[in-house]
Amino acid sequence: MKGLLTEIRNCTVCKPFLPLGANPIISASPKSKIILASQAPGRIAHEKSIAWDDPSGRRLREWLDVDEELFYNADNFAILPLGFCFPGKSKTGDLPPRPECAPLWHQQVVEKFDENPLYILIGNHAQSYYLQDKLTLTKRIQNFESYLPNYFVLPHPSPVNHFWINKNKWFLTDVIPHLQLEIKRRLQL
Ligand code: SF4
Repeated sequence: MKGLLTEIRNCTVCKPFLPLGANPIISASPKSKIILASQAPGRIAHEKSIAWDDPSGRRLREWLDVDEELFYNADNFAILPLGFCFPGKSKTGDLPPRPECAPLWHQQVVEKFDENPLYILIGNHAQSYYLQDKLTLTKRIQNFESYLPNYFVLPHPSPVNHFWINKNKWFLTDVIPHLQLEIKRRLQL
């Protein structure tokens, strides 16, 4: 795994398309028990070279019911976005992850995990890539139990998704308790 992570961190395959240059953000260990597959680092993550150290990350840790120490231990959580570099912004938000990234790297990383980890698929990009279905994000999350034990589907915890979370109140009352139980089981807490 170590050699592969070094190779990824030196990757510049789509540098011409990255407005702030390549800065691949990934964290993983052969012992990772839970894989956080999301879209791509935002600008703050790019600048700090740390994923999820922002309001989205704080909310994600609340949902998972873990502290930073547990969260940033790669033996617990691998951070494996669909694109490892900040892709830039459009008028409506961050651009989608670079399409070169996941097909090039994900399978190579996945093959290094010792056990079958739980994949937490955060947001539509990660869900469409891994599940290969045409369902809406809301439908998938309503049917979250059908993806277990391999996948747990979540909306992106970004503050811009407040509207979705307020509209779908069942998510916090019915889905998050299952998520927290699954995390405790996987991490043996
Ligand atoms: S987004 Fe992925 S493929 Fe593109 S330069 Fe970064 S690490 Fe390489």
